Amino acid sequence: MALPKRKHSKARRDKSRTHWKLTMASLTKCLQCARPILSHRVCPHCGYYRGRAVVVVAERPKKKPGAS
Ligand SMILES: [Zn+2]
Repeated sequence: MALPKRKHSKARRDKSRTHWKLTMASLTKCLQCARPILSHRVCPHCGYYRGRAVVVVAERPKKKPGAS
């Protein structure tokens, strides 16, 4: 396997890492409940995808007020 002849300096390594960035997830609006959802995913709030019910979303127990 080919190997680099010399070790890259820390500055060179760190300069290349300045291009490592997070990208914002592309959000869209659910056709059923109008909440923001990830595109090409089933809505986690209502279980609809492209206007059709595809999964049954179980009702999550509500958090007690005051409990942290
Ligand atoms: Zn929805």
